This record gives sequence, C-alpha cells and structure tokens, in this order.
Amino acid sequence: MSQFDYDLFVIGGGSGGVRAGRIAATHGAKVGLAEEYRYGGTCVIRGCVPKKLFVYASKFSEEFEDAEGFGWSVGERNFSWQKLIEAKDQEITRLEGLYRRNLERSGVEMHDSRAVIEGPNTVRLLSTGQTITAKYILVAVGATPNVDAGLVGGEHVITSNEAFHLSELPSKIVVVGGGYIAVEFAGIFNGLGVETTLLYRGEEILRGFDTDFRKAVHEEMEKKGIRVICEDTFTSIEKLADGTLVGHTKKGERLEAGQIMSAIGRKPNTRDLGLETAGVETEVDGTIKVDAQSRTSVPSIYAVGDVTNRANLTPVAIREGHAFADTIFGNKPWTVDHSLIATAVFSQPELGTVGLSQEDALKKTKNLDIFKSSFRPMKHTLSGRDEKMLMKIIVDADTDKVLGVHILGPDAGELAQVLGITLEMGATKADFDRTIAVHPTAAEELVTMREPTERLRG
Ligand code: NDP
Repeated sequence: MSQFDYDLFVIGGGSGGVRAGRIAATHGAKVGLAEEYRYGGTCVIRGCVPKKLFVYASKFSEEFEDAEGFGWSVGERNFSWQKLIEAKDQEITRLEGLYRRNLERSGVEMHDSRAVIEGPNTVRLLSTGQTITAKYILVAVGATPNVDAGLVGGEHVITSNEAFHLSELPSKIVVVGGGYIAVEFAGIFNGLGVETTLLYRGEEILRGFDTDFRKAVHEEMEKKGIRVICEDTFTSIEKLADGTLVGHTKKGERLEAGQIMSAIGRKPNTRDLGLETAGVETEVDGTIKVDAQSRTSVPSIYAVGDVTNRANLTPVAIREGHAFADTIFGNKPWTVDHSLIATAVFSQPELGTVGLSQEDALKKTKNLDIFKSSFRPMKHTLSGRDEKMLMKIIVDADTDKVLGVHILGPDAGELAQVLGITLEMGATKADFDRTIAVHPTAAEELVTMREPTERLRG
C-alpha cells in the first residue's frame, strides 16, 4: 500500500496534462488530475481548435468571389457571427466531453477544482479544501495572454480569450502584435468583413520566421485589405461616449475601432500556484525551470507544456507529457527533441515551415544553396485572384542535407507536416530530386526546383 493518495497528481487538464495522466494510468499508475476551468486546455477551449474553425469561416468570403471565375454565380451572401459562435461552442463542448471520457476510461480521477501546491508531495484542492498527497506532481497549467500593464486605457483591450466570445463583430478592429495569434486573427476578422488593422512594434511581422516569408505574409495581408502598420505601438486608448475605442500611437496615429485586440505573447500561468512553497524554481516571468526530462528543481515535481516555455505548441506539450509518463511510470525513458519542429501559421495564405530559416541556417553553415520559387497557384489562373505561392528549400551545400523548407500558400500547414517527416529522416536535396512529382499540384514544385536561385558561399 502506497504512502500517497496517488502515484501521480496532474495539475491542469490541457494537452500536456491529459496526455501525461492517461499514459501514466495505462502504465498502471494511480492518477488524479485537477482542472479549474474546462478540460482540453487552451488549444481546445480557446486556442488552436476554435481558431481554425474561425479561419475556415473567414475564408468563405474569398471562396465565393473565386467561384465566379469558374462559372458560378453566387447569390446574396449573409454571415451570422452568432451562428458561427453557437456552432463553434457546440463543437468545443463535444470535444471537452471527449477529453473527460478519455480520462475516465483510462482510470484517471478528475477533480473539477483549482489545485495549489503545498509541498513536494502535497496539493490542496481549493473547491473543497481537501489535501491530497502524490508521489509525483506534474504541473501542466499552460499560459495566459500577456497584457500591457502600463498602457493607459488598457482595460478596454481584449485578448484572444474574449475574441472567441464577442457578442457581436465590430465593424473595425485593431489587432496589436506581430506573432502567430495577431497574424491569424487579423486574417480571420478581415475575412469576416471587419475593417482590420494590424499594429506591430517591430520592423517586420513574424519575427523568427524566414525573412522572405515574413515579407510575403505582410504583402499578402495587405493585398487582402488588412492595414499593416510596423514600428509603432499604442501609447494610450480612450473610449468615447458611443463606445468607439480610439488608440493613439507613438508616431501620432489615431486609430478608431469597435474593438482592440492585444496578442503580445503569453506568460506561464504560475501565479499563486504555490511553487515557491514547495521550492520549485522559476524564471522572473514565472516560467518553471526544467531539465530535459521535464523535472523541476524539486525531484518529485515535473512540468510540461507552455508553463515551461520551451516550444509553446500543443503537439510539443503532448510529447513532453508522454515522455514524462513513459519515463517515470513505463520504464521507457526518452526525451523530446525540440530542435526540429514543423509548424504552421494559419495566416491567409497559410505559412508552413520546418527546419531552419535562411538567417538561422547561415549562422550554422557557411555554404548554402537556396531554391526558391514564387508562382500563381493554378486555382487563381481562373479566379483571377492576385495571390502568390512561395516555396523555399534551404540546402547545406557541403552535405546536400535539406536544412529547412518554407511554404506560403494553400494547405502549407498540411505540407509542413509531411515535410517534417522527410527532414526528421535527414533528407538530402538529391532525395527530393529523385522523387517523382504529383501532377498537377503546387507541391510538385518542391521536387522540380533543380537549379539554386542563390548560392551562398563563405
Ligand atoms: P508570439 O510570441 O508569437 O508573438 C508575440 C508578439 O507580440 C510579437 O510580435 C512581439 O513582438 C509582440 N509583443 C510582445 N510584447 C509586446 C509589447 N509589450 N508591446 C507590443 N508588442 C509586443 O505570441 P502570440 O501571442 O502570437 O502567441 C503565443 C504563443 O502561442 C506562441 O508562442 C505560439 O507558439 C502559440 N501559438 C501557436 C499557433 C500555431 O501553432 N498556429 C497559433 C497561435 C498561437 P516582437 O516580435 O518584437 O517580440
């Protein structure tokens, strides 16, 4: 008989926590899990999933326009934000149910409560005051949107959390930030007919991505009617008597909107979690410090997912949770390789990327061959839409190894997933060249670019 109530107690029912709990339970561990809000975490409840549904909704406006080039006459178009929200909420409720059922089936005991840490092996449930002991505690509480605390009138600003539940769509919106969320939501609002401005403090949006693609996303967004302002930021926001928000920028712009949405990054959800009581070390911003095995400074406490701020992506949290459970409870130790992660920005058009950007590749290798192609996707020959697809393969000229592949265009996220496998396998450019094209597709360009567009030496 164990001296603890549980072998594992997980705090947080999101992607990482749920995976870790389920896998640990299948390895025979007695597992408890506490969730204070809804099961599924940010990704399912107010992140990736509802966002992607919104992206689908927003694309129809262009689809209707494009259809005309193919002979269709599309009649009157009406969009109901309320209907979309209702349908989205239904789907999220279904998914949450699935998460609960899967936990139940694996034998994980759920506690619908906020839990705080009281010691290396102790948590307390705030809903009941109950104290629970566990041999291991896993912190998987995720992250929460940053807000600019110093911004005058900052209380008028919403984040992605609220954007999923707006009672009505504004006629104008300003989205602040230049990362994943800002770019994706600017595309969503614009597609749904909202006059959209993106305000970004830096020189070019999507810092960290390949420069050619940052510029290309920016250009395509502008072609679709989004106003993209770089190198500027709000200094204050005022609310007029009629509810209109007016944002004043450093450079003296006055931007009016029905809503202003801030997407300026996220911070770990570690406030008042009791980490200091147990002696768990964190960074200044609350990030939990962990080793490669996701172990914190307290040997019985582990942490996975966004709360550890390694690569803040759902599939990474899932991997980290799985590796933790296999290692501790399954006698199968392994760690997550964070060095090669395929990812997609659901901008419009979509950006899919795997491996290094040209800038990062140059920091690692002196000799590069760059294969780049920009073309009009076949669909737009008839739709008449002025939209370019861009592809780039970055190759180590000394070894022929493909270091990075970047795609901007329809289904780039889907392509990035498949390309991720090839790069994991260590594909060379010769492997790409040997592969017979699938015709007619856009992706065939990936295996038909023969001559480098640039040879970078030294
Ligand atoms: P990101 O880190 O991607 O971007 C944050 C943006 O906000 C950057 O452009 C940053 O500018 C800017 N910023 C930061 N602080 C300030 C400030 N004080 N004032 C003005 N601008 C500021 O964060 P997101 O919020 O977009 O997304 C959060 C996380 O969620 C990401 O890490 C991402 O991994 C994940 N995510 C993934 C998605 C996907 O896989 N498709 C979709 C959505 C989110 P600068 O570049 O100058 O620092």
